[in-house]
Order: sequence, then C-alpha cells, then structure tokens
Amino acid sequence: MKNIIFLAVQGAGKGTFAKMLQEKYGYAHISTGDILRERSQVDDELGHQIKNMIDNGIFVPNETIYEAIEYKISQPECEKGYILDGFPRNIEQAKGYDEILNKLNKELGIVINLTIPTEMLKQRIIGRRICKDCGAIYNIYNEAFKPKDEGICDKCGGELYQRADDNEESMNTRIKTYFEVTEPIIDYYKEKGVLKVVDSSKTTEETFKEIENILEGEGVNN
Ligand code: AMP
Repeated sequence: MKNIIFLAVQGAGKGTFAKMLQEKYGYAHISTGDILRERSQVDDELGHQIKNMIDNGIFVPNETIYEAIEYKISQPECEKGYILDGFPRNIEQAKGYDEILNKLNKELGIVINLTIPTEMLKQRIIGRRICKDCGAIYNIYNEAFKPKDEGICDKCGGELYQRADDNEESMNTRIKTYFEVTEPIIDYYKEKGVLKVVDSSKTTEETFKEIENILEGEGVNN
C-alpha cells in the first residue's frame, strides 16, 4: 500500500474517508487535529497553549507538528501504509514533510484532494458530532448521518460531543486559512505528479467508491 495524504478544507470528509479506508484496508490513520486535541487535554503550559490555538482555529507551530509526525510514521502500525489527515497544511509543512520522509527513507505516496463547494461546508461542520469513545462521526443535519438516539453513538453507545472549534467564527477562520495557505500545496503536489482530485459533494458511498477506484488504479491497495 502507498501512503496517502488527504488534502481538503475542514468538513470535506477527510476524517470520515480516512476511517473508512482504515477499517477496510488497514491503513494507519494519522490526524494531526486528533493528536493535538489529545495533547491539549494535558494540564500544562503546552497543553493550554495548544487548546487555545485549536479553539480559535490558529495553526500550532510547525516544530510541534513535525515531532508528532516523525514519531507517528516511525511506528510499526504505519509500515503497511498510512493516511495523513490535517498535515501538511502549508507549503512550509509540505517541504518539512519531504525532509522527514528523506530522513526516514519513506515514500511520499499519493495525495488526494477532496473538493467541496463552500456552501456545503457550513452544514457539515456545524452539524458534526463525534463519539467520545470510538471517534465515529455523525451529522445532526443530515438524515443519513444522524445518530438513531440523540447524543449517543450507534456503534458503541458512547457519548457524542461537538468539537469546540466547530462553531461559526472558528469555521470561518479555518476556511479562510485553508484557501490562503493550504490550497497552494495543491500545485506543489501537482508538479510532483502525485495529485488526484475527488469531488466530495456526492454521497459518502459514491465518493468512497471514487477514492477506491483511484487507489486500485494506482495499485495502492496491493
Ligand atoms: P483539524 O482536526 O484537522 O480540523 O485540526 C484542528 C486544529 O488543530 C486546527 O484548526 C489547528 O489549530 C490545529 N492543527 C491541526 N493540524 C495542524 C497542522 N498540520 N499544523 C498546524 N496546526 C494544526
């Protein structure tokens, strides 16, 4: 399996599709947002700083991210293949990641850019609910993704929560930041010949099928 980078604005489905690929093919799923949220729970200065940055949709310093990425992709569960969700987020991080790969003698793999009209994002972000126990993702504004019982995970019965940064103000900051600093990475990877584009505004099944077709075409799941 090749490694995959998911490149998309928040709410486009990076986390959902990464989890689906993890379950079906055994990829390791590395979400820098999840790593940082976990670190932000530690009651120390760095924990408080990270929490503050996440709640306001501000980037955490590169060095903190690089350290976490280098550690994670060196773990045995990443040997078969891993998905990066939320990293790299700007050109500097894309270059920093190239250096980490060189150092560890690992391959870049492919980059999947999930596209979605901005109008669809609001509903996806503001309606998002996540299971505290298993990380399953729901959406209270979408019949197909609503939990059967309000606030409770269908899969494990865990409590559902709303991310503190899934509010309108933080969402607007994140969308603006994405188009200003993350989208330029698309050209960076296009030039390297590793970029694939997938329309993520269709149903989850349709979009997932399209992702699988790309992976099959690349021989990625062999
Ligand atoms: P996410 O779960 O990917 O939406 O990330 C939530 C928040 O974590 C972001 O708004 C940033 O504050 C922080 N974050 C996640 N990944 C990165 C990254 N690669 N670089 C800097 N900050 C990040």
